[in-house]
Amino acid sequence: MRADDTDPYRTVASYDSVMLAHMAAGRLQAEGLDADIADANYVSANWLMANALGGVKIRVPTPQAAAAREILARLDAGDYALESADATQASEPAAGIACPACQGAAEPYHGWRWRLSMLLVHAAQLPVPPGDQNVWRCTACGNRWRAD
Ligand SMILES: [Zn+2]
Repeated sequence: MRADDTDPYRTVASYDSVMLAHMAAGRLQAEGLDADIADANYVSANWLMANALGGVKIRVPTPQAAAAREILARLDAGDYALESADATQASEPAAGIACPACQGAAEPYHGWRWRLSMLLVHAAQLPVPPGDQNVWRCTACGNRWRAD
């Protein structure tokens, strides 16, 4: 899309996800820029429209566009990541749940019902309950169990 020279706003980024757009716009607003979001409601109502609309767009007043792009580049590079986030993820097993058989690290397990549910939600927009939500799988021995 060609930028309109009479438009006092510039699109500085676009996202497939409404949530990511709001997070990025929040960063720009925290830095003092007048960031706004366009087409979020269209994409929320029908996410398949995201491609046709060019995504959820972040717009700022034209004089702030360069500063906004610089901040978004730093955001993409991870400059705003919390120091403790990586250390926490690396050292703790998922939610502190350990395998009852071998005490290995556990991860959520998604069976065929969950996969079918996701397929129907995304392909046909049919909300089908995914079934068991609290099944875990050991990453060490492959043991599966239901946590209550
Ligand atoms: Zn195990």
